Amino acid sequence: MDDLWTPRAGRHYPRSTGEFQSWFATDADCLDYLDWLRWPGGFVCPRCGHAGGWAVADGRYKCSGCGSRTSVTAGTLFDRRRTPLTVWFTACWMFAAQKDGVSALSLQRALEMGSYQTAWAMLHRLRSVLVRPGRDRLAGTVEVDETYIGGEEPELPGGRAKGKKALVGVAVEVKEPRGYGRCRMTIISDGSAASLHPFVTGNVEPGTTVVTDGWQGYAGIGKLGYLHERLSQRAARARGEDPGRLLLGVH
Ligand SMILES: [Zn+2]
Repeated sequence: MDDLWTPRAGRHYPRSTGEFQSWFATDADCLDYLDWLRWPGGFVCPRCGHAGGWAVADGRYKCSGCGSRTSVTAGTLFDRRRTPLTVWFTACWMFAAQKDGVSALSLQRALEMGSYQTAWAMLHRLRSVLVRPGRDRLAGTVEVDETYIGGEEPELPGGRAKGKKALVGVAVEVKEPRGYGRCRMTIISDGSAASLHPFVTGNVEPGTTVVTDGWQGYAGIGKLGYLHERLSQRAARARGEDPGRLLLGVH
């Protein structure tokens, strides 16, 4: 049996884009590869643990023990996706090959996808599962704010007023078209740029759109490699909007 824990280029994964294309020309090629990765010693039923079964359809097995059907993609990144596996594999290849990451736009162009939204969603899903050590910072669009957490001290004016409470930096991934992804929270010493900038760089991947309020502690985030979007609470009030509706994720 192949030792999958020491993968070798050209044997366990393609050495080049040319090799990649010849290995994974069709969805059946991709299914074969996933099958080999998942069950290198033959099918093992994930329901009952029985080893052995029949291949019944594209990438699916029927367990000879309990009779249940399992797809090779079940419980993986590729489970129940409408996008062809060849497209997914190409996205993975691009994602893995580009040192500085791949953008949804370049993915959409390379894969000739009609929808930017689909490319964006694929990329987001790849990022969420392919977490590399030290590279697990938040990405995409991230709301950042800070707030005091701790005992009630009603005599203090709200917001950034100090007391016995701990100031906590909060960063949340905002998903499209709705919902939230991962979150990071860290106690920070104060609301200055000297505290907030390291909070952002330590928890948010460069290139990310960082959404904050107009607080001065966030000024200069754009120079650290982020797309900085500042939402002014004052401007929201002037528009007659509820400033509490800004940065809903972190709130
Ligand atoms: Zn079974």
